[in-house]
Formats: sequence, C-alpha cells, structure tokens
Amino acid sequence: MAEAVSYTEKLKKWDRFEAEKFSKKAPVTTPYPFIDIEKPPEYRGIPHINPEKCIGCGACVNACPPDALIMEWDKEHGIKRLTYNAARCIRCARCIEVCPTGAMEPTTRFEIATDNKEDLVEVVEHKLAYCEECGEYLDFTERQIEYVKAILPKEIFEMYALDERIGLTQEAKMRKTVEKLRETEGIPVSAFMLVGEVKDKKGGEK
Ligand code: SF4
Ligand code: SF4
Repeated sequence: MAEAVSYTEKLKKWDRFEAEKFSKKAPVTTPYPFIDIEKPPEYRGIPHINPEKCIGCGACVNACPPDALIMEWDKEHGIKRLTYNAARCIRCARCIEVCPTGAMEPTTRFEIATDNKEDLVEVVEHKLAYCEECGEYLDFTERQIEYVKAILPKEIFEMYALDERIGLTQEAKMRKTVEKLRETEGIPVSAFMLVGEVKDKKGGEK
C-alpha cells in the first residue's frame, strides 16, 4: 500500500521549476469545478451537526459570533430546535471547540453556492424534559438530563438528591425543598417565612 502523504507535505516537495523543465504544458491551474479538489485534512470548512451526538445544550449557539446557530423553544409541543445556517457561517470553529459531546463536527466542505437556501440549513430537534409535578416542559432537553446523569459523580447526585429533583421546574424544586424542611425540621411554615425567621433569629443572637 502506498504511503499516505499529507497535502501540505506534497506542496513542500513539489518543485515548480523542475516540473516546468520537463513539461512546458504543465497546467498552472486546476480545471475546477470539473474535477474534485483535494483539500488538506486540516482545512476548515463548514461544520456539520451530528444529530445522534447532539444533546441540545446550546453551548455552540452562545459561542457563534455571527448567529449562524440559533436555538428555539416550542414549549407547546415540548421541542427545542437547533438550526444551523451555513450562509451565515464564518468557519471560525468556535462551535466545534465548545461542543461538549463532539456533535459539532468539522468538515473540509467549502462549496456552498446553491439556488436553494434550504440546502444550507441543518435542523436538529430535541424533546424537552417534562416536569410531572407542574405539568410543564422544562428549558432542558431529555438528552441534557441523561448527559448530566452520565457525567456527574454519584456522590454529587446523592448529596443534592438530584435523582428526584433534576427533572423538575424551579418552582417544583423549591416546593420539594420546603416539604423536606418541614419533614426534617418539623416547621409548619412557608419557605418565605422560614427565611424571615432565620434572619430574625440571627439578629436576636447578636
Ligand atoms: S464555525 Fe463559527 S460561525 Fe460557523 S457555526 Fe460554528 S461558531 Fe458559528
Ligand atoms: S454544543 Fe454540541 S451538543 Fe450542544 S447544542 Fe451545540 S451541537 Fe448540540
């Protein structure tokens, strides 16, 4: 099998003067687009979203300077939608750097001329997590929750009782905290009164 030589190495080895000595007809340009252009593997083309790996976290959206990536929430149908528009992309690769799962994949594709704008758009839809306590969709996707469960150490999960809290809205989490306090402390008051009492207590102790 022939040894694989990188494009950059080939360029370094190519001696234009020597090549011209042997053939005055050596082409100086490539008949593109009639032949496929070889790109160096390190060439930074437009990225591509791998829908299997994407968890819908939105890190790429926050990092994208020209808003080539946007995130939308459809709470009515429980969907979070990530859209990539190659027409706006400046190929800076910030999205690839920040993506926690490697879903934002680099490519060497540079040709984006088209007569149909739809060709330049990629859309990935995710199911939003649903809070059973409140009957509302969360801002997070189901995959985000699975991902956090997979990477967080078990001790942290247990310490903050995340198993029973991670799929809840902020309001339901607060309710759970108050219920827990009532159970453990035996204080039959609301969370706000509890805060007030603690402050009063501290003031009185001075
Ligand atoms: S390469 Fe840069 S401009 Fe293109 S989508 Fe990623 S962050 Fe945005
Ligand atoms: S950063 Fe990666 S995982 Fe998160 S939304 Fe973007 S592509 Fe998906």
